[in-house]
Amino acid sequence: MQRIVPAILSLHHHRDLLEREPVIYRPSACPHCGLARLWGHGCYARKADRRPEPSGSLNPVLIPRFFCQGCRQTCSRLPECIAPRRWYDWVLQQAVLLLVLGGGSLHQAALRFGLDRRTVRRWWVWLGERSDEFGLFLRARFSDLGRAVDFRGFWRGCLAAMPLSRAMAWLDQDGVVVP
Ligand SMILES: [Zn+2]
Repeated sequence: MQRIVPAILSLHHHRDLLEREPVIYRPSACPHCGLARLWGHGCYARKADRRPEPSGSLNPVLIPRFFCQGCRQTCSRLPECIAPRRWYDWVLQQAVLLLVLGGGSLHQAALRFGLDRRTVRRWWVWLGERSDEFGLFLRARFSDLGRAVDFRGFWRGCLAAMPLSRAMAWLDQDGVVVP
């Protein structure tokens, strides 16, 4: 889908880049029809800063949109640090998943990070259900990951090699819908 712009790891960085160098957000081609003629189409606001106020909320976070002159559809581009269609960012999801991958229970993870247990379960089930597909693409890019023998080993190795946000950005580039 190429919805994620890699290597933008914080909301501060995103805000600065969007102001100074907005061109880096422009997709090379329309994700709907493939045409390479996209116009900037403003921004929409997203409440992406999940830190409790008043510790410096960056909301509303602006997300750039683009308009395709061919099919007349719009698309948007997210910095790597924001998870598409999820309330929480990748950093928190990664911390939770690593705890459970390391043998912690869903209950422990929920308590540790102050989350609803159903949220933690949803993320864990998601990783399990998508693991074969994600693993296929990630192993094709990073052959070292091919050595892992099982699900837990694979994801612990993967998240030691790169943050979850980067793994998702690679998958997004390969056309996999994440999360
Ligand atoms: Zn198009």
